[in-house]
Amino acid sequence: MATFTVTLPGGKLWTPQYAEAINEDKCIGCGRCFKVCGRDVLQLVGLTEDGERIAVSADPEDDDEDEEYEKKVMTIANPENCVGCEACMKICPKKCYTHTTAEV
Ligand code: SF4
Ligand code: SF4
Repeated sequence: MATFTVTLPGGKLWTPQYAEAINEDKCIGCGRCFKVCGRDVLQLVGLTEDGERIAVSADPEDDDEDEEYEKKVMTIANPENCVGCEACMKICPKKCYTHTTAEV
C-alpha cells in the first residue's frame, strides 16, 4: 500500500487530503465550507429535538426554517466526490475537519 499522490502538470507531487470527518460538537453550521467546496461533497443538516437529521439549505437567504431545528451542522454527504483540496478545512473557523490521505 502506498499513499495516493498526483503529479501536477508542472511536475510537482501533490498528496490529496480527503475530508474524513466533521466534529459536530464544534460545528456552528456557518456554511463557509459549503461555499468553498466545488465538488458537491457537503450537506448542511438540521438536528431536531428527536435527533432527526433533515437536509437544509446552506444559503443564509433561505434561513426561514430555523425554529424547527435545535442546531445545524455540516455533514460529508458525498465523500466519493471529494478531491482532497482541503479548502473546507482551511476556511473553517472552528477547526471541525479531519482529513486523511488515500491508500492505493
Ligand atoms: S477537501 Fe475540497 S473537495 Fe473535499 S470536501 Fe473539502 S472543499 Fe470539498
Ligand atoms: S466552516 Fe466549520 S463551523 Fe462552518 S459549517 Fe463548515 S464545518 Fe461547520
